[in-house]
Amino acid sequence: MSHIVVIGAGQAGASLVAKLRSSGHADDITLIGAEPAPPYQRPPLSKGYLLGEMARERLFLRPESYYAENGITLRLGRPVTAIDAGRKTVTLGDETLAYDQLALTTGSVPRRLPAAIGGDLPGVHVVRTLADVDAMAPGVAQGQRVLIVGGGYIGLEAAAVCAKSGMQVTLVEMAERILQRVACPETSAYFRDLHRAHGVDIREGVGLSHLTGEDHVTGARLSDGSDLSLDMVIVGVGISPGTGLAEAAGLDIENGIRTNAQGRTSDPTIWAAGDCASFPYKGARIRLESVQNAIDQAECVAENIMGAGRDYVPEPWFWSDQYDTKLQIAGLNTGYDAVVTRQTDGSLSHWYYAGETLLAVDAINDPRGYMVGKRLLSMGKSPGKAAVADPATDLKALLKA
Ligand SMILES: Cc1cc2nc3c(=O)[nH]c(=O)nc-3n(C[C@H](O)[C@H](O)[C@H](O)COP(=O)(O)OP(=O)(O)OC[C@H]3O[C@@H](n4cnc5c(N)ncnc54)[C@H](O)[C@@H]3O)c2cc1C
Repeated sequence: MSHIVVIGAGQAGASLVAKLRSSGHADDITLIGAEPAPPYQRPPLSKGYLLGEMARERLFLRPESYYAENGITLRLGRPVTAIDAGRKTVTLGDETLAYDQLALTTGSVPRRLPAAIGGDLPGVHVVRTLADVDAMAPGVAQGQRVLIVGGGYIGLEAAAVCAKSGMQVTLVEMAERILQRVACPETSAYFRDLHRAHGVDIREGVGLSHLTGEDHVTGARLSDGSDLSLDMVIVGVGISPGTGLAEAAGLDIENGIRTNAQGRTSDPTIWAAGDCASFPYKGARIRLESVQNAIDQAECVAENIMGAGRDYVPEPWFWSDQYDTKLQIAGLNTGYDAVVTRQTDGSLSHWYYAGETLLAVDAINDPRGYMVGKRLLSMGKSPGKAAVADPATDLKALLKA
């Protein structure tokens, strides 16, 4: 008998246990989750679900019956508090569970504003869990005034939902421009214009000094000295990988739980996947925060627990929905030195290059640009910049060139 325990019942944990079963693991599997809900998808939390357009049940990755039907023991609402790697046990409350192999899919933790600047006032929200969104949803209503702190994808998606709901929205981004960490200036400019056209007051190069209020947030002082009156604050200032448990168990940590290319941590019987794991890729060590990575890496780890010995090589993709705009991203743009813009009727894409090598594509309302870019990247092909920029170029022809 070999008991596999998976800690973290999110996107990666759900994929990992399903893959273990479909790959033929016949013995016990236990999936433990801190949250009370069965594994669910997070992307709609800052999109359709927050807008009230998506029913709660549609968030769940599989019906709850799937787990019992497949002999997977689901333990929900039970945070694991300790791992004893020597004894090969995990602790949940006053219970101890033995494992033969352990996988950590503990996700990430949203950064919060310090209490010293009012970050713990009621009415100040983060967007990570179903419970977070259920708590803020009643405040997302016509005429309410919201401050969004942080101009990354989560902040911008929340701003779009709030604007569509008739709220007065101010978004502050401390960096010079929104999306600075993840996208080129051209993509930032597109989304800045889009939000301003929907009435969002975007202020770049402006931070938050402190929030005000007694028993609820009522205002904010910004770093440029201006004051806002507010009903709600949504904080989207990034996440930290969920490494606490692993660190306390003595596992190596390096911008996440350190794994080898196969997903194995510094303890040979413990594996990690998803937002919490950092792994070697193209001579560097990276950590990805996306659904694609959570699923693909978890499936690779499941196969490796079964003995496959396969390296995980990500083919990154990501998306963001804001108003009626769909941004689709293929590849990783780290290290780009040039951006080529391609604009055709109604569609726009930005192609990132390092020298003559294509690294990534941001496709804005451009499913064809995204598909072709993704395929070019997986084939290791880099089309010439002039051909990409020329709207007369048939993109599909680039695949055959
Ligand atoms: C609002 C929002 C919008 C997003 N939009 C997109 C998008 O458009 N596209 C995209 O690709 N990605 C998006 N993402 C990112 C994507 O959802 C994550 O990368 C993905 O969920 C990571 O999966 P994971 O399993 O690693 O972590 P999670 O899905 O976060 O699951 C981790 C689980 O582990 C549990 N856990 C942690 N510690 C313990 C413990 N000690 N004991 C038991 N359980 C524990 C947590 O409670 C959590 O349920 C979005 C994320 C958010 C929050």
